[in-house]
Amino acid sequence: MELRDEIKQLVEQKKDEFFAVSDKIWGYAETRFEEFQSAACIEAALEKEGFTVKKDLADMKTAFIGEYGQGKPVIGILGEYDALYGLSQQAGVAEPKPVTEGGKGHGCGHNILGASALAAAVAVKDYLKAHGIPGTVRYYGCPGEESGSGKAYMARAGLFRDVDVALTCHPSYENSITGYNFLATLQVCFKFHGKSAHAGACPHLGRSALDAVELMNVGANFLREHVIQEARIHYAITNSGGSSPNVVQSEAAVLYQIRTPQLPQANDIYKRVVKIAQGAALMTETQLEVVFDRGSSNIIPNRHLEKLAHDCMMEYGPEPITEEDLAFAQKIEDSLVGSDRTYSQDILDMIYGPVKGKELGKLIAGKLIMDTVYPYTPTETPIAASTDVGDVSWNVPVVQVLTNCYANNTPNHSWQQVAQGKSPLAHKGLLLAGKTMALAAVRLMQEPELVKGIRDEFKERMQGREYVCPIPPEVKPAPHR
Ligand SMILES: [Zn+2]
Repeated sequence: MELRDEIKQLVEQKKDEFFAVSDKIWGYAETRFEEFQSAACIEAALEKEGFTVKKDLADMKTAFIGEYGQGKPVIGILGEYDALYGLSQQAGVAEPKPVTEGGKGHGCGHNILGASALAAAVAVKDYLKAHGIPGTVRYYGCPGEESGSGKAYMARAGLFRDVDVALTCHPSYENSITGYNFLATLQVCFKFHGKSAHAGACPHLGRSALDAVELMNVGANFLREHVIQEARIHYAITNSGGSSPNVVQSEAAVLYQIRTPQLPQANDIYKRVVKIAQGAALMTETQLEVVFDRGSSNIIPNRHLEKLAHDCMMEYGPEPITEEDLAFAQKIEDSLVGSDRTYSQDILDMIYGPVKGKELGKLIAGKLIMDTVYPYTPTETPIAASTDVGDVSWNVPVVQVLTNCYANNTPNHSWQQVAQGKSPLAHKGLLLAGKTMALAAVRLMQEPELVKGIRDEFKERMQGREYVCPIPPEVKPAPHR
């Protein structure tokens, strides 16, 4: 039997097991570093399949590694399983309807991601077992991707050091290989401590922490004109000091996120933002506390590996689309308003510019569900988003496979993604990602020249640079700060 067919068979014979894992994790909907049931679910599946599982890694109870096989090469397959706050939504319902008001939901499809990686790892294990060939497959259970940078802590702990090549995936509304870069990011909380007072009777006795937050934000907004064009500075007031205007707010906090193409650029802007915070504290006579939250690195791309992943995806192509898939996609499309309906084209334009972007967009324009695979289109331009896969990419060559799990134009981090997270289309995307990664992994184990080409490119791109974790050594992973 041809390799592609054997891998397909190995993934599909256990598909119900993988769908069950994905659907259970969808239901658990646990957020950063508290994915206890979700991690346990994948750990149990790996143990049942004969993997040796090491748990509680890099100061994270929900980080784990499942390993099978012996010797080189070591192929890492990265899985995620964390959800998002405030995105509770019923499955299969095309209007906003939370399961729990204000609850959590899988608005980035990491339930599918974790199960796709499981499907790939199990298929590779079954292949190794059937053919008795050398090679090691590792499932990396990576918690807290959303605002947690779990992989950066794992990279800081050296967990990727002996891996030859890593593969991962992400659910999407398209089938493609990410041949573009992601931005480095730093997230830091600025807490101001002041003094409360009756705002009417004795305002002169109060020192307002909320004033400090507001003045800091004014300063940061003026800073925007004097940073590099590609930088992004976001903030959220996480503590406004309460809801009483007649009390001088003694405590307030604002969470900043800085994104740039390269990590040193983010560090430079961060230092300037700290100065602005110090200025705000000086002006308001409040005390400033800077609490570093998380950071992740930009991606070091690897064209040899991206090309291999694309070749593997082309072996399977899009999974068949049914009338049922289209009917639900139509309802989702109807729920999108205005510019949301051009989301997929806007992202293409952002990455590839309007000319190339429009050319690629012809493959998806006017379709409810993408029914093809984008041609492999590498570019050095980053997408204005960040991922902790970046930190892995500084340690080992890694590629991200995107598969079609949602209706066209479904935005990331939306209730529409949660609603589609257990659909037949999502399950098909899960299988396509699993097959693509499993085929790539087995080919890497059987064709040493592929690994060599990928590793040579990695060495060339690193230019002798060493990975420096963006998170200071004293900062440990935490669910909240
Ligand atoms: Zn995601």
